Amino acid sequence: MSRVLLDVSGVSKTFGGVVANDRVSLSVPEGAIYGLIGPNGSGKTTLFNAIVGYHPLDAGSVRFDGAELSRLRVGDIARRGLLRTFQQTRVYVGMDCMANMRISAPGARAGLRGLFRGFDPETDDQAGELLEFVGLQDKRHVRAGELSFGQQKLLEFAMALMNRPRMLLLDEPTAGINPTLINGLIDRLRRANETFGITLLVIEHNMRVIMNLADHIYCLAHGRMLADGPPEAIRGDQRVIDAYLGA
Ligand code: ADP
Repeated sequence: MSRVLLDVSGVSKTFGGVVANDRVSLSVPEGAIYGLIGPNGSGKTTLFNAIVGYHPLDAGSVRFDGAELSRLRVGDIARRGLLRTFQQTRVYVGMDCMANMRISAPGARAGLRGLFRGFDPETDDQAGELLEFVGLQDKRHVRAGELSFGQQKLLEFAMALMNRPRMLLLDEPTAGINPTLINGLIDRLRRANETFGITLLVIEHNMRVIMNLADHIYCLAHGRMLADGPPEAIRGDQRVIDAYLGA
């Protein structure tokens, strides 16, 4: 197996009296697709937020490519090549797809500058290629708000790829998408992994999807790491089955 890219060690996070993450550890090798599952409220989103620096850790460390991240800000972590997406899409509904792609280019976020990136042919070429990659090449000049929810998810994925990330944390990429688009999205995730070498860690409630997609799955319950292993082992793990039934 290749070397570890993301290494989470003993991460704890408490909100008031709620222990959302209790000494959670996981590691993801470079080039892999890993899954993160667990019942609602088990701490998955909190862990993603902890990894990308949205909130300070109470304890533990997060290393990316050997470097400690826990003191860095979200933007610095993104510049190192680690990005996350959200359960709710975060596209700009009033702008067309190309404009959404332009403002996602590195350096564009600081202000309106990104909107005028049409003058930068390299950015536009990359935006066009990535829209094609996700199958939205015909929607370049369509406002994001006019896309279906599933298409907005594809756009959001393409926007993340504008940053040429080394690793993406995806929070329920298939939630709310119809089955036909789910297959298309899964296919794109796999191709992004194979073609661009992007390492993926995916939170997913759809068991069929994650069992098919992931090389290895971590399962959280009540803020703790309950089990991890290859999909076939996790599928039959009584602790995992009980955690879901008890939820
Ligand atoms: P999951 O993503 O697995 O559904 P979460 O990480 O969202 O779980 O939540 C884990 C626990 O932490 C839940 O009990 C939730 O209510 C609590 N929690 C998460 N974020 C906050 C917050 N910002 N303030 C207070 N409690 C929170």
